[in-house]
Amino acid sequence: MNNYPHNLLSIEKSSALRRGVQIKKADKKASSYLPEGLLRKTPPNLPSMSEFDVVRHFTNLSRLNFCLDTHFYPLGSCTMKYNPKAYDVLSSLDGFANVHPYAPEEYVQGTLSVVYALQNQLKEITGLYDFTLQPAAGAHGEFTGALIAAAYHRSRKDFERREIIIPDTAHGTNPATAAMAGCKVVNIKSGPDGRVDLEELKKVLGPKTALVMLTIPNTAGLFEKDIKTIAEMTHKAGALLYMDGANLNALIGLVKPADMGVDLMHINLHKTIATPHGGGGPGAGAVGVGEKLADFLPVPRIVFDGKKYKLSAKTKHSIGGVKSFYGNISVIIRAYCYLSQFDGNTLKEIAENAVLNANYVRVKLAKYFPAYFDAVCMHECVLTIDKGVLPAARTADVAKMLLDMGFHAPTIYFPLIVPEAIMIEPTETENKQTLDKFISAMTSIFLEAGSNPEVLHEAPKNCPVKRIDEVSAAREPNLRW
Ligand SMILES: *Cc1c(COP(=O)(O)O)cnc(C)c1O
Repeated sequence: MNNYPHNLLSIEKSSALRRGVQIKKADKKASSYLPEGLLRKTPPNLPSMSEFDVVRHFTNLSRLNFCLDTHFYPLGSCTMKYNPKAYDVLSSLDGFANVHPYAPEEYVQGTLSVVYALQNQLKEITGLYDFTLQPAAGAHGEFTGALIAAAYHRSRKDFERREIIIPDTAHGTNPATAAMAGCKVVNIKSGPDGRVDLEELKKVLGPKTALVMLTIPNTAGLFEKDIKTIAEMTHKAGALLYMDGANLNALIGLVKPADMGVDLMHINLHKTIATPHGGGGPGAGAVGVGEKLADFLPVPRIVFDGKKYKLSAKTKHSIGGVKSFYGNISVIIRAYCYLSQFDGNTLKEIAENAVLNANYVRVKLAKYFPAYFDAVCMHECVLTIDKGVLPAARTADVAKMLLDMGFHAPTIYFPLIVPEAIMIEPTETENKQTLDKFISAMTSIFLEAGSNPEVLHEAPKNCPVKRIDEVSAAREPNLRW
């Protein structure tokens, strides 16, 4: 890392004598374009700097970042994989990026055709009957799914079904969205193998159950091997099975969720399909449903009569719109490019390599940071610290030491059921050399933590921001510059 004094704001580097490019004043006065009342009375307080100073300031700030373009980013439950830069260019083509949201259908046939085609690709991958691409995030997709399920039960006059069963290995957004959809959250404890405990499920499943909501693979990185039995039990009880398929990387091209008995699901296009997660958006939580739920999807739907794409609101049961216009179109276009580029065999390979990479890391690190559930994992592995061997170490220390060694920290302290959790998702796009470097960094952290435990609490030493005093930061937050 460089020694750039990043704590200086450009305003503090200002000097009255310095200037960037001087552009000649317009001949016509601004006042003749703008109403008098909108004009500034005093000039804005902008820093006076040379162009060099400005460019260096922002370039150096940008270099303080850890990002996918600079570092390995093994953030669990996030799928920070490499996505082709070419798709960025394609999604920002004028015809997509500069479309007026209210442009009439005949002017946006290209955009509509992409949305329609992506829906079809997702149907093929999942085996489900229809999709909506409106939801703007995974959690938004779950919310949409919960509303669809509630509307379905209501349409059958089954008003009592207001409970959503969620195992403790679910993603945190699941109970939050269930509650937001006005349902009662019923939690169930996992079995000792980190999977749904069928006995626990049986106890709570009944005439009040609207949905069983499963994160697959679950947040312990494990596949629900009893999924067929779970689906049978759920359907027998008159409920629907929802799959949180945010991270489809482990299953894409290998398994169709509809074949497992899933009635509805969401997929985070911004994890598995060509837009990295992280950075807070934009995202797209595509929601797919089986045939009996299709009429409940949000409107407008895109219909195709063989010649033209049209927007239609003609459904009897739709839950209404959940987002304006077409959803996050730039994410949708990237996903369409990705799925158009790869055939079924390549998608299968993507899933196999995502799983292989996670298991490679898990097995290689088993002696140092053992997996909490000792089993073959899916696209991510959840490790822990053996307190018998490293009594002074905390997961947060390991994460900070990794920063010093040039790796973005994995997800830590999640899932909540794993003490000192270190959740690593290497993704299929990292090669063996990168994984080996990461494994060797983790190994040396283990060795150092054993021989010289103080180092644990000093990291990071090489980053622009050193060890933060977390207690003072929490007790006396200084939120202003
Ligand atoms: C990321 C994630 C979500 C939430 O997705 P957002 O787009 O962040 O709302 C839900 N479930 C799982 C399993 C996830 O990994």
